[in-house]
Parts: sequence; structure tokens; C-alpha cells
Amino acid sequence: MTINYAEIRTHDIANGVGVRVSLFVSGCEHACPGCFNPEAWRFGFGEPFTEETEARILGALRPAHIRGLTLLGGEPLHPRNRSDVLALVRRVREAHPDKDIWCYTGYHFERELLPESERDSILRQLLEEIDVLVDGRFVQARKSLHTRFRGSENQRILRVRESLAAGRAVLWEGA
Ligand code: SF4
Repeated sequence: MTINYAEIRTHDIANGVGVRVSLFVSGCEHACPGCFNPEAWRFGFGEPFTEETEARILGALRPAHIRGLTLLGGEPLHPRNRSDVLALVRRVREAHPDKDIWCYTGYHFERELLPESERDSILRQLLEEIDVLVDGRFVQARKSLHTRFRGSENQRILRVRESLAAGRAVLWEGA
């Protein structure tokens, strides 16, 4: 593994449905004004993600009350992070097939991720492993404290498999 991570939360209730394990992957080039976590723009920020880190995440996901894993950043879908994040989500799927996976990304689904996923099979495979995607840059002028699971109103919560199959954003409408 070559990625770094800023933080792991083992009981996160803010970033997806239920009580979740969340992993903040370092490295982001979107440079959104007002970013909540600019230190994590550096790919070397935080700690190296090791086999022990992976084991810790798999263990933290084990209790029945933990609903799933959330990937945040930084930018978990940046080209430099994709293959390691894919390896992790595959291990999570294998060990915990009953848990769901959410991912936050600054990329826009139709404008950026869909066309790029036709060129980059790693990205395509990674998207196929994710259940729910919160997409789009953080836009300070559209920041709202009332948007559930989102930082700004332009961001959307998408069902990824349905969106990939349809070739357009299919909104997640809650659980
Ligand atoms: S995508 Fe997220 S981490 Fe990256 S600059 Fe924007 S708000 Fe910050």
C-alpha cells in the first residue's frame, strides 16, 4: 500500500447512514475554497496505510451495529489513490459482504468520473464496488448545515450501480 491517511473514525454517524467506520484518505487536487481539511491535500499527510491499518479497519467493521465503511478525504478517487483504495474495498467486501460502502469525492459523476472510467479500468472497478457516492466539489457559497450527509447543496448522493448502468446520476433517496 502506498496511500496515506489522515484519520480513521470507528463510530462515525455524520458521513452516511448508521454508525460507520470512516477512513480519510490523504491527497486532493481540487483546492475547493473553504475546504474543511486543507492539510489533507498533501498525499504524504498523516500516516502510511499499512496491512495493520487494513486489519484495524476490518476489525472495526466487525460489530453488528456497524453499518459500513465510508471513504473520505482528501480525494479517495484521485488517480494516485485508486488502486490502493480498490484493494481495500475488495478486502472489505470479502470480509464483510453484509456491510455497505459510501465514498465522498470532489469529482462530478457525469462530467468527470463516467468518461474517465471508460479510460481507467481501475476507476471503473472501484466505482462498481461502491454503493453510495457523494459527488462534486465543495462550494462555499452553497454551504448548508441542513443538507444531510453533504457539505454544500450542489453535491449529490448517488446510487452508484444504478448510475453506472443508466449512464447518468441516479439519486439515493435515503434509507
Ligand atoms: S474535494 Fe474535499 S478535500 Fe478536496 S479540496 Fe474539496 S473539500 Fe477539500
